[in-house]
Amino acid sequence: MDFAYSDEQKLLRENTIKFARASLNAHVVERDREQVFSRDLWQECAKVGIQGLPVPEAYGGTALDALSCAMVLEALGYGCRDGGLVFSLCAHLLACVVPVWRHGSEEQKRRYLPGLCDGTLIGAHAITEPDSGSDSFSMRTRAERDRDGWRINGSKTFISNGPVADVAVVFAVTEPAKGFHGGVTAFLIESDTPGFSAGQKFEKLGLRTSPVGELVFTDMYVPPSAVLGQVGGGSAVFSTAMDWERCLLVASHVGTIERLLETSISYARTRNQFGQAIGKFQAIAHKIADMKVQLEAARLLAYRAAWRLENLRNASLDAAIAKLMVSESLLKTALETVHVHGGYGYMVEYEVERALRDAVGSTIYSGTSEMQRNIIGRWLGL
Ligand SMILES: Cc1cc2nc3c(=O)[nH]c(=O)nc-3n(C[C@H](O)[C@H](O)[C@H](O)COP(=O)(O)OP(=O)(O)OC[C@H]3O[C@@H](n4cnc5c(N)ncnc54)[C@H](O)[C@@H]3O)c2cc1C
Repeated sequence: MDFAYSDEQKLLRENTIKFARASLNAHVVERDREQVFSRDLWQECAKVGIQGLPVPEAYGGTALDALSCAMVLEALGYGCRDGGLVFSLCAHLLACVVPVWRHGSEEQKRRYLPGLCDGTLIGAHAITEPDSGSDSFSMRTRAERDRDGWRINGSKTFISNGPVADVAVVFAVTEPAKGFHGGVTAFLIESDTPGFSAGQKFEKLGLRTSPVGELVFTDMYVPPSAVLGQVGGGSAVFSTAMDWERCLLVASHVGTIERLLETSISYARTRNQFGQAIGKFQAIAHKIADMKVQLEAARLLAYRAAWRLENLRNASLDAAIAKLMVSESLLKTALETVHVHGGYGYMVEYEVERALRDAVGSTIYSGTSEMQRNIIGRWLGL
């Protein structure tokens, strides 16, 4: 595994950072305060190909390999200070676009991918329910055979992009006796389908520019062409989404960690107390040294996970390891960045407290840290 940037990857990184800094950061404090999701910025990102990074060009994508995608998302997390926007883009790309690309019929790919890649359509991924989060396999949403199609009843919660989504990957039980492996089916559903409604939009601690809400399905009829993958094959669709999300969403976190490290270094060099820069105090320098160590380890794990996703048949263990380590490093780095900034770090104006609020979610979504440890334990035969 050679993770040295190729010339093309270097250029992608530079261009993404330049784009993010120039186009995505204005008024981020206000957007965060008012919880505004910006469709204009979404469109700007589509113009540079973010929403379709790994998708073949024939369907409107950029056709990058997984490692190059990780490098672009890292650059986005580094250059873009709007963590909610980056999160919404990743949820759309990794948990909706990728499953459609990997499991969709030719008709589904032709119908949805161009719009999902060019910014016209926003995607969501809906598995969590009010009574089933970590234990998502115990979902209650049911799809029952009706004529040649399916009638779906149930509700989903905490769905990223749910309040603005045009299309959603929705999981429902189709054969209860079979359990998750064989008994759950993924459906690709347009939000204007009769019986589909976006319920409550939640106010949340961080990632406030990324809309999160409920989806409710009431006697919703969908034709057989709405099945994504195979009937009973929901677990395969879910695994694809989780592998991509856990491997690549964390790449954006690596970029955020690097930005926070640089912010901390710069502040520690210029803030004077007791007649010297605070970075000269070993207690502060050690905090920042730990951030650097976490950044380097996180980057290697994220790149390795992305490489394995592209090159091996199964990357679930690497995905869990990368997700656990990088999200916890992000949270620690964000907290220490606030500490390095002292009281200023606690104030909205310095844009450091927002990074901490945003970072908390990373240890919950896409499976909590405890669930990642459970997955790793299972792989170790425990
Ligand atoms: C910002 C954000 C965005 C999200 N986006 C989406 C989305 O787009 N689509 C979607 O479907 N869902 C989404 N979710 C939901 C997310 O996947 C769930 O919140 C998460 O899986 C945890 O489920 P829960 O909230 O029900 O917590 P619970 O499962 O009730 O867990 C509560 C606590 O118990 C622990 N716990 C539970 N079971 C075990 C166990 N077996 N061993 C050890 N500890 C355990 C958990 O780790 C946690 O600490 C999002 C959540 C957040 C915060």
